[in-house]
Amino acid sequence: MISLSAFRRHGMMDATMIAGGLAVPTQKERPMAKATRALSVLALLAMSACAADAQTFAAGGKPPELTPGPQCSPQQRQMVDEAIVEARRRLATAITFVQTRPEDPYIRRWFGEGQNNLVLKNLQTTQQRLNQSQQLTIHCNDPQTCRGQFAYARRSANLLGLCRPFFQARFEGQDNRWGIIIHEVTHLAALTGDYAYQPRGAQALAKSDPSRAARYSDNYEYFVEFLPR
Ligand SMILES: [Zn+2]
Repeated sequence: MISLSAFRRHGMMDATMIAGGLAVPTQKERPMAKATRALSVLALLAMSACAADAQTFAAGGKPPELTPGPQCSPQQRQMVDEAIVEARRRLATAITFVQTRPEDPYIRRWFGEGQNNLVLKNLQTTQQRLNQSQQLTIHCNDPQTCRGQFAYARRSANLLGLCRPFFQARFEGQDNRWGIIIHEVTHLAALTGDYAYQPRGAQALAKSDPSRAARYSDNYEYFVEFLPR
């Protein structure tokens, strides 16, 4: 039996989950040529690593240990906790935005027309799950499941898994650490899916199919990451 909803990843691969815990990468492709994609992946990783060095380790600290998990090292756990705290704060701002500026074109850009109630409900459900983050099982750098993606979530175990690119990501902008947390927790709490990739794909979906856009994790992640401040 294959459960598509039980196991979700974020990043360069998608996966299906076969009952019993075996994750099978399906190599869900982004809509770009293979060579371009390989180059852009390298560029993304290089950029993220530089930015993380600059922002996180500027005080003379060392980059986080990237030893095989799933147990998180104290330093990794601290990075995850900081991202969770910021994700809660940004979600609160996003919820206020939808409540107080329901006509704002920024909401339509990511979710199209007529989705405010569902968007608000999903943002609030995600925030509630993050407020109880002590109940989440968190895995870091699990060699069984980390294959180049930022992170993954497993609903049946209320599990959030974080991989090497997460620890190399920045703390602001697209695909930052708190944005990745928001993305994954929408899978767990709001039962969102992974179908559109990159901001351009998410915005195109908002235009062509708003009710689907309001059910996809990337749309929530980018909505919060790019929220006007
Ligand atoms: Zn995802």
